[in-house]
Amino acid sequence: MAKYEYQTEIGQLLQLMTHSLYSHREIFLRELISNANDALDKFKYLHLTDEKFKNETWDPKINIKIDKEDNSLAVTDNGIGMNEEDLIHNLGTIAKSGTKAFLEQLTGDAKKDNNLIGQFGVGFYSVFMVAERVDVITKKAGEDQAWKFSSDGTGEYEITPVIKDEHGTVVYLKLKEDAKEFLDHWRVKEIVKKYSDHIPYPIFLHYEEEENVGEGDKVEMKKVKKSEQVNEAKALWTLPKSELKDEDYIEFYSTLWHDSEEPLTWTHNQVEGSLEYTTLFYIPRTAPADIFRADFQPGVKLYVKRVFITDDEKELLPLYLRFVRGIIDSEDLPLNVSREILQENRILANIRQASVKKILAAIKKLDEEKFDRFIDQYNKLIKEGIFTDHLNKESLLEIVRYKSSKVEGMTSLDYYMKRAGEREGETKKEFYYIVGEDEHLLRNSPLLEAYRKADIEVLIMDDKEIDEIVTPAIGEYKGWKFVDIATVDAPEVEDKEKLEQYGETFTPLVEKLKTILGEAVKEVRLTTRLSESPSCVVPDSSDPMAQMRHLFRQMGQ
Ligand code: ADP
Ligand code: MG
Repeated sequence: MAKYEYQTEIGQLLQLMTHSLYSHREIFLRELISNANDALDKFKYLHLTDEKFKNETWDPKINIKIDKEDNSLAVTDNGIGMNEEDLIHNLGTIAKSGTKAFLEQLTGDAKKDNNLIGQFGVGFYSVFMVAERVDVITKKAGEDQAWKFSSDGTGEYEITPVIKDEHGTVVYLKLKEDAKEFLDHWRVKEIVKKYSDHIPYPIFLHYEEEENVGEGDKVEMKKVKKSEQVNEAKALWTLPKSELKDEDYIEFYSTLWHDSEEPLTWTHNQVEGSLEYTTLFYIPRTAPADIFRADFQPGVKLYVKRVFITDDEKELLPLYLRFVRGIIDSEDLPLNVSREILQENRILANIRQASVKKILAAIKKLDEEKFDRFIDQYNKLIKEGIFTDHLNKESLLEIVRYKSSKVEGMTSLDYYMKRAGEREGETKKEFYYIVGEDEHLLRNSPLLEAYRKADIEVLIMDDKEIDEIVTPAIGEYKGWKFVDIATVDAPEVEDKEKLEQYGETFTPLVEKLKTILGEAVKEVRLTTRLSESPSCVVPDSSDPMAQMRHLFRQMGQ
């Protein structure tokens, strides 16, 4: 037997699990089942691709055993299993850098915090919400030695060699006094149904029940062993859309991505033809906590013919869609597809392009409340997309929203164009914008003043690091250019009050000039634009000849 100390962060985490997170304790079961599912997925892959395991008769399943007398619950799988090193690495340390971030993000709001547990992959430790001791008895596929990991959720754990026949893992929980509700088979069934109905492997529940046995005088209460399958055990995305209800989609989402909030929307596509594949994508209501970290966990899982391949490939979708959760299941890829092949694969590139279209279409279909939420959470990433995804630029420019000098909240570019079109006078096809860090400072910028006077709308771009790079690179949207008002002359504006004052005095002069000049000019009018000279001749900007003259003058003629 060997004793080990937990990594410090885990110590903190355990402290929290054991003492603070009391509501929603039931999610420990969801986490254990999800780990069993992952372990089965991994072995399924070996079973299909590795000569060593091909001949094994294997009946993948998850068993949950309730033992009321022993006060215990055990979750068993015949998946990949773990060796000693795996145990230390997977359960004694937190390999992913997420833990620190997790601890930092805890809010004290149990609902949100529980949600984070799943997101950061610290799921196993949730057992300490209900268990006073945990034993993990496990044997790795292809190895001879089995191991037992034991911990009471304090600073240390033990690892002992043990004997076990089949590969796979048993997680044995000695329940705390106040966690006896999880010995009730109805309760356990309810939890499995709620969180794990669409786990594609059968989940069996084993328990004992007292029953009247015998007849007449000989009736006696006896303990009877019962076993039943509690979940549907079908990969949801393979079911016909017509059979699926909103609840099914939502439940599947919360099972796989550990999010207790309903997704904003989803899009499910079963494609047949020269390429055959199924995709199911969700948009989380709240942006995953790690999307602005370099080591973010990708949200899309790749399957080939229902066999799980990877959930660690960052470019199944373009990077700017890294908030999307979902599944790609291809009929055409080989099972033993390698990372290098994945990255340059024509089939995947094809699926990826079609997927982006579907996701963007789903975003555009959101109702107002959800769309606002979407923008609130993901506008920055849409801007990233405008910069990087040339194929879908136009579509992304339809989605992106900006603050504006004219309207409250956010505006689309299309509405900007509409408002500009409704304004009196001539309108150049230009989006005016100002970039900076602080919305308040931008709104009070002296640069804006002239535009306000001229009644010209200016987009207020306060995502400085992003806007500064992205906006100038846009080029055009529907024939309209983007103009940074810091780089051009302010519009010339007439001061209406002064014009009226001057009008009384100068109207006779204007009339006189009109008669004198006659056909030589198009119009004579008062202006407040000039501060030094009394008058000037201006070309008519709608007159092509005037434009030519302007051009010649520029060329020095
Ligand atoms: P996550 O599942 O997000 O990786 P967990 O805390 O739930 O985080 O589990 C940590 C790791 O422990 C898993 O990644 C896996 O390697 C290992 N593990 C947990 N349960 C099992 C199991 N039943 N079979 C094999 N490995 C497991
Ligand atoms: Mg897990």
